[in-house]
Parts: sequence; structure tokens; C-alpha cells
Amino acid sequence: MASYDVIIIGSGPGGYVCAIRCAQLGLKTACVEGRDTLGGTCLNVGCIPSKALLHASHQLHEAEHNFAKMGLKGKSPSVDWAQMQAYKDEVIGQNTKGIEFLFKKNKVDWIKGWAKITSAGKVEVGEETHTAKSIVIASGSEASSLPGVEVDEKVVVTSTGALSLPKVPKRLAVIGAGVIGLELGSVYARLGAEVTVLEYLDQITPGLDTEIARSFRSLLKKQGLEIITGAAVQGTEALKTKAKVSYTLRKDDSEHQLDADVVLVATGRKPFTKGLGLDALGVETTKHGQIATDAGYKTSLAGVYAIGDAIEGPMLAHKAEDEGMAVAEILAGQKGHVNYDVIPGVIYTHPEVASVGQTEDQLKEAGRAYKAGKFSFMGNGRAKANFAADGFVKILADAETDRILGGHILGPAAGDLIHEICVAMEFGAAAEDLARTCHAHPTYSEAVREAALACGDGPIHS
Ligand code: NAD
Repeated sequence: MASYDVIIIGSGPGGYVCAIRCAQLGLKTACVEGRDTLGGTCLNVGCIPSKALLHASHQLHEAEHNFAKMGLKGKSPSVDWAQMQAYKDEVIGQNTKGIEFLFKKNKVDWIKGWAKITSAGKVEVGEETHTAKSIVIASGSEASSLPGVEVDEKVVVTSTGALSLPKVPKRLAVIGAGVIGLELGSVYARLGAEVTVLEYLDQITPGLDTEIARSFRSLLKKQGLEIITGAAVQGTEALKTKAKVSYTLRKDDSEHQLDADVVLVATGRKPFTKGLGLDALGVETTKHGQIATDAGYKTSLAGVYAIGDAIEGPMLAHKAEDEGMAVAEILAGQKGHVNYDVIPGVIYTHPEVASVGQTEDQLKEAGRAYKAGKFSFMGNGRAKANFAADGFVKILADAETDRILGGHILGPAAGDLIHEICVAMEFGAAAEDLARTCHAHPTYSEAVREAALACGDGPIHS
């Protein structure tokens, strides 16, 4: 048994960042993690491994489609799945060991095992009980279930199983055209699978700016993904090595079946709080099953805080990280704060999709007068040279003040480009501020500047 200033439960991006910052601010800190490695879903079975597969499959796509055009001739590479998995595992290992190193460097104790809060200030892990002045729950999320769909992580899989399939399936059915479904669906499509995505709503990627979502959908179609919207999945039937998905089309209630070798269920995630003992302690939850917190991340139990996927808000690693930093600062007597108006969202497909702030749909619904400045990557020299001219940048600015209200990018490196707009928004910048900032040529970021110019007197290259 040991006593700490802070015990953090969970070592995902929310938990480990919180732990490191707590230690840096002088608090005696421990982090409880039950997995064999640190880093949570993100590093072990989420963001990081999926990015390795996205990168590898994109390289294959480049070799198959663009190398010859650039004068790079020769036999196209073929997929060595075992090696690709080994590469992915190597990347995971480097990252999870990196967190272990950072814990040691910052003197954060890793308590190995699954935590249960037995009372305010007491955390039981296995046979031991540890005490802390404050406890931070950063226990993350797990895939939600769908009625009639039984996940076996072999034939019917969540993202976890989809990252470690024994081979590239011939036919992959994906339930849900959200972030996971489209990222992993496009990986397997590039690796040669026939991919069909079934989406309940009439649009893919709910919440995304509609214009971006429509263009994104047509690009995915060009890449060979079949996307069926308005499809209500009724259930799956798993046979030994394949499965059937039954669905009805909402427009006419017609019934359909889809055969696949693997079915990926990607219909959202829910907070993971199993075993924490929260029910017994009467910790309040929201109607969506998230741990309820106040603006300072306090739960209804004194001295217990919660952050990340386990509480309200977008389930994003970077949102959890920022909350982890904020709680650490609050516990150290400072003023922690997260600006929820400026949290970027990125879909790591090719091209990427990134957005921040308000969508055009939201501005229309709010009746707000706005300007939309758009610029296509077709007018960007660097994008053309790199065979990456699909997509566009859209900046939304207040019609009167020119203050940037939102930014949406479908295109190359969108996930990096978006941060220029995020910083501008944090500083309350006007579109003209971006437009008047010198941007290096030739870069993709010139497309952001041109979209800002389009909010004023107009872009130069379109
Ligand atoms: P999601 O919420 O992004 O998408 C789920 C999709 O499934 C939605 O489009 C929804 O309409 C659809 N759906 C729900 N029920 C359905 C049904 N019965 N039949 C057909 N379609 C149905 O969820 P996700 O893709 O599972 O991701 C889970 C969470 O993880 C999200 O919060 C996401 O933001 C996060 N995540 C983020 C990233 C990233 O930032 N790049 C990557 C992976 C996951």
C-alpha cells in the first residue's frame, strides 16, 4: 500500500498525459493500468496501429497508381500481411515503451492491475489498497454493441479485431460510416478487399459539414468503397469463416443480405467503467451513461475527477489529453481550462478530412450571417505535383466582423493543416489575418490562405 497526491485510473492519452503533468507540477503521482502495456486504446488498439496500416496501405496505393506516372517503373509491391502486422506491432511497441520511459523520467508510479474505487481516496488494485488525496478516472471507452450482432473478434469484429485479422479479407462488410468504419474500410480497400459500408443515416460521417461529407463520399466511391446509406442493420449471422449481414433499406423497407468474410462493427463507442465500483459509490452518470462531471471535472464523489471518453464530449484522444492537463493544473492549484469550441476532428483516410469549429449547417441553423471562402487543391501547385489535388479548404467567417467561425478541409495533410485555423481561432483571428500572413510556396498550406482570401477580395489561383 502506498499513498499519493493523485492516482489516475487508466493510461490512455487522457490518463498518461494527466499523470505526467501532475508529476511535473510536483504531485506524487501513480497511474493504474491493467493492460500489459501503457497507452490505452489509442496506442495499443486504436489511433496508432490504425495509422501504421493506413500509412502502409497508402504506400501500396501510391506504388500501384502513381509511381509509373512519375517515371518510377518496376514490379508493383505485393502485400506481405505478416510483415505489415509486424511493422504495426513494432510501432505500437515503440510508442507504449515511450510512455513507460516518460513515466520513469517523471517519477510516475505504474500500478499494474485493474482499479476499483472502494471509497473516496481509496483505490484497490488486486490485493492492495492505495490511498490518494485525489483520484482521476481516465478509463476510456469500449465499442458499443448492436442488437442482433454478436462480436466474436474473428468473423464479426470491432476495430480491435480488425487491426489484427489473420489475413486481408476478400469481402469486408462495415457497419457504420463513421470515423472507424471509413478509416479501416479504406485501409482494407487499398489492400485489395471488396468493401461495403452500411450506414443507417442518409449521410456518412454525421456531424461533418455536409458539403465536405458529400465530396468525401464521392472520393471514397472513386477509391472503390461501396457505401449504402439509409441501411438499418438487423443482425449478423456468423458462420465459421464468413458472415451474413441482414439490413433493411429505410426508404422502402426492402430486406437485403450481404455476404462477407469479415464484418466490422463500427457504430460508436461507450464509456468503459466496468469494475470501477462507481455504482456502489453512487457516482452520478448522464443519461448517455457517461460519468457526470462539473466544469472542473469533479464527479459527484468528493475528490474523484473524470476525463476523456468516460465523460461527455467528443471521444477524441486529444480532447482527453487536454482534459488531463487541465485536471492536473486544477489539482496543483492552478486554473485548468479546455476550449471546447476549438477542438479539431480528423479522419485519417487519403485524402484526410479535418474540421474545427462550426459547420455551415450549424451556422445556417443558428441563422448566423457568415461568409464561406473556399479553395480547391486543384489550384495548389504542390498538391498537383504530388497527385493530391482532390478536395478543398473551406473557411467560415462572420459576415460582419470576418472572425473565423470554422474551418473544414478535405485534402492532403488536412489533419496537419487544420491547426493553422485552430490557432487563428484561439487568437480570435479574422479570415483577413490568415490571408495577410505570408505562406511558404509551394506548400499545401497555401490552400488555407487562399480559402481565407476567398472570404475577402478573392483567391488568386482559382
Ligand atoms: P462514429 O460515431 O464515428 O460513427 C458511427 C456510425 O455508425 C455513425 O455514422 C452512425 O450513424 C452509424 N450507425 C449507428 N448504428 C448503426 C446501425 N445500426 N446500422 C448502420 N449504421 C449505424 O463511431 P465509430 O466510427 O465507431 O468511432 C467511435 C468513436 O471513436 C467516435 O467517437 C470517434 O470519434 C472515435 N474515433 C476517432 C478517430 C479519429 O479521431 N480519427 C478514430 C477512431 C475512432
